[in-house]
Amino acid sequence: MDGYPVVVVGAGPVGLAAAAHALERGLDPLVIEAGSEAGASVREWGHVRLFSRWAELIDPAAARLLAERGWREPEPDAYPTGADWAEQYLSPLAAALGERVRFGARVVGVARRGRDRVIDAGREAEPLTAHVETATGQERITARAVIDASGTWASPNPLGGDGLPADGERAARDRISYQAPDLSDPRARSRYAGKRIAVVGSGHSALTALVGFAELAEQEPGTEVVWVLRREVGDHVFGGGEADQLPARGALGLRAERAVEAGHVRTLAGFRTATAQADADDRLVLESFEGTKSVPVDEVVALTGFRPELSWLSEIRLELDPVLQAPVRLAPLIDPNVHSCGTVYPHGAAELAHPEDGVFLVGMKSYGRAPTFLAMTGYEQVRSVTAAIAGDAEAAERVELHLPETGVCGGAGLFDEPAAEQDGGCCGAPGAER
Ligand SMILES: Cc1cc2nc3c(=O)[nH]c(=O)nc-3n(C[C@H](O)[C@H](O)[C@H](O)COP(=O)(O)OP(=O)(O)OC[C@H]3O[C@@H](n4cnc5c(N)ncnc54)[C@H](O)[C@@H]3O)c2cc1C
Repeated sequence: MDGYPVVVVGAGPVGLAAAAHALERGLDPLVIEAGSEAGASVREWGHVRLFSRWAELIDPAAARLLAERGWREPEPDAYPTGADWAEQYLSPLAAALGERVRFGARVVGVARRGRDRVIDAGREAEPLTAHVETATGQERITARAVIDASGTWASPNPLGGDGLPADGERAARDRISYQAPDLSDPRARSRYAGKRIAVVGSGHSALTALVGFAELAEQEPGTEVVWVLRREVGDHVFGGGEADQLPARGALGLRAERAVEAGHVRTLAGFRTATAQADADDRLVLESFEGTKSVPVDEVVALTGFRPELSWLSEIRLELDPVLQAPVRLAPLIDPNVHSCGTVYPHGAAELAHPEDGVFLVGMKSYGRAPTFLAMTGYEQVRSVTAAIAGDAEAAERVELHLPETGVCGGAGLFDEPAAEQDGGCCGAPGAER
């Protein structure tokens, strides 16, 4: 297979890092990116300030490649926005990789050459193929390995508490957004100013939106915020605060808590959305599966997490956890039903392998539906995965990562029952599932 490239899907932070590691290993990486620029997904939330410092957002192999080109590393302790991350790091990195990154090209299928997923005969001897769509047509690229770093940004979870769109959700699409708006943009501001807005979800994106809307409510009379969440509002819903080992992440939770305490936000907790229907005044009313109704709202911002898009991987043999849709050996390490303090047991190629040799899901996508992914995790994943592809088993097995904890045992994940938060045992070995 040596003559074929390692195809990397996605020129986000983790895909580009994979290419940098592959180059150092003497492999031939080819990054296929659907967008027109590096970090296409990151740019979509470019107005959001990260809770990671620059030092935690730069992959070591990428830094080495950039250093050769005279790149000046940003101040390690500063916190960039998504736009800064893309402009000051991802774009130069893609430029350093040159023709090894192809933009405007979408991977629409991956297969074993000439074999659908059912066929065993001769499978191991065949390379992989990546089917790619561009503005000028379709092509098939033969690959020795495929590293899928395509993220989950483009497939947000719907509003419905059962994981399917709520009744009326599709029809109300013009009033439902799936990302925290940039309220410094006059268009976004005028969309929400003076309106009653439901923010649905309880992760970091929801907390970011709450803080933004609470500020808007202070400045624009008539703006009201209703926070709709599945969990009860307990101590941990705002994250670990000062105990968070990422101080900016902890501070975000504290700011959200203050916004709620200051009365800018009314909460509707323990609410699993079943329907989103317009009332007689054409405002949206959310109704839970238990029959509770929200007050009528003008806008809904649904921030209920993401899920991996797996349809174009249907012809390869993946081994995914039935709950999280993450690689089956990684899933127990990140399952928010068991432990979610942000600590991830270091992992690499062994945990990310599938029955289909040479295929790896990495980065945000490797977490499936689990929250709290950090770029640092992805950088370590691709260091190990590229070592494995290059045949360096010792380096692939070596673990070189320590991740900061959220400071919350069981609080940052998907817990619904406050009791579960007490004895989830997230910071120790994974405890028994409740
Ligand atoms: C609002 C927000 C704030 C965050 N803050 C932090 C933080 O502070 N610290 C941190 O470590 N992490 C943070 N994250 C998590 C962050 O998303 C990841 O760390 C990082 O972006 C993951 O990189 P990735 O390369 O796995 O995926 P992505 O950044 O999503 O990149 C995937 C790329 O693949 C491309 N793509 C998708 N499908 C295809 C296809 N079929 N063919 C070709 N290309 C495709 C996309 O266009 C995109 O460019 C945050 C996430 C969000 C949403």
